[in-house]
Amino acid sequence: MTQALIGSLSMDLDNKWAYLRAAGREDWESTSSYLPMATQRVVEMLGELNLPLTVFLVGRDLNVDSDVQAIQTFDQLSSWEAANHSLNHLPWMHTMSEPEIESEVMTTHDRIISTIGTRPVGFRGPGFSCPKEVLRVLIRNQYTYDASIFPTSVAPIARAVFLARTNLKGEQREKAKKLYGGFDSMRNPNRPFVRQEEVDGVVRPLQEIPVTTLPFLRAPIHFSYVTFLASFSVMAAKMYFTSSLRLCRLTGTSPSLLLHPPDFLGCEDDSDMAYFPGMKMKREKKLSFMRWALNKFARDFDVRTMLEQTQTLATTHAPVPQPATT
Ligand SMILES: [Zn+2]
Repeated sequence: MTQALIGSLSMDLDNKWAYLRAAGREDWESTSSYLPMATQRVVEMLGELNLPLTVFLVGRDLNVDSDVQAIQTFDQLSSWEAANHSLNHLPWMHTMSEPEIESEVMTTHDRIISTIGTRPVGFRGPGFSCPKEVLRVLIRNQYTYDASIFPTSVAPIARAVFLARTNLKGEQREKAKKLYGGFDSMRNPNRPFVRQEEVDGVVRPLQEIPVTTLPFLRAPIHFSYVTFLASFSVMAAKMYFTSSLRLCRLTGTSPSLLLHPPDFLGCEDDSDMAYFPGMKMKREKKLSFMRWALNKFARDFDVRTMLEQTQTLATTHAPVPQPATT
């Protein structure tokens, strides 16, 4: 048997408040947390399938004891990595000053060290926003990788749907127009590569692990999109996911697949989330689909955390073309 290609699995642990704020709900700050319910289901399913996980944590939740306890249940997995997903999950980091960005990244960095006990070396920007200022902050603080690129052909459509659905007004709405990496996102590579960024007059490397999309067509293949398809037809979603993984194998694309908490929640679990794509599905049906998809990923690839994925790439990958500058 040939050796399986390495892939990675990550989760953006976005809490309900982040979704409700993005939807323009004024009561977002007082909303309940679904992290205890979601993390328990994630730990059960990934534990059963013996899958590792990189979790991108939002600093704001690390100030809440019950959420920290929920996050600590990831210790039950055979392997997990705590990574950084900013302090306030503001999807317009491209509009912030460098000191503001530094605070968004490093406050969460320090909170991860004090609550989880490990030093994060990976970052993903909320809303797949990835300006040079963020990369410089990461390099200065000895980060190994950034994971903020989502090189999809549907970014302009996703952004249009977001803007049509949200109640955001004025300045916030203007800022949201660069969501999903602006119009240049599709010019970025669909496979891991090493960036070279100038920081304080010196060019230094930073690994970049894009959220993998379908090779060639660049349609999304992460789990929230595939469960959204499954809410219309489980059979079509399974065929799409199966052929996506096959195309990754055929093109030698080491896939980095992305989870979100709603992938483990059904419509019975949270009525506040009903507007979110895929949240009309019943819990049992969604969990059963997720178990199938994760098991398929586990069988077809040698799945690691993202940090482990970067370690294998550092020795096996030649330099690849530089991404589009935004
Ligand atoms: Zn997020």
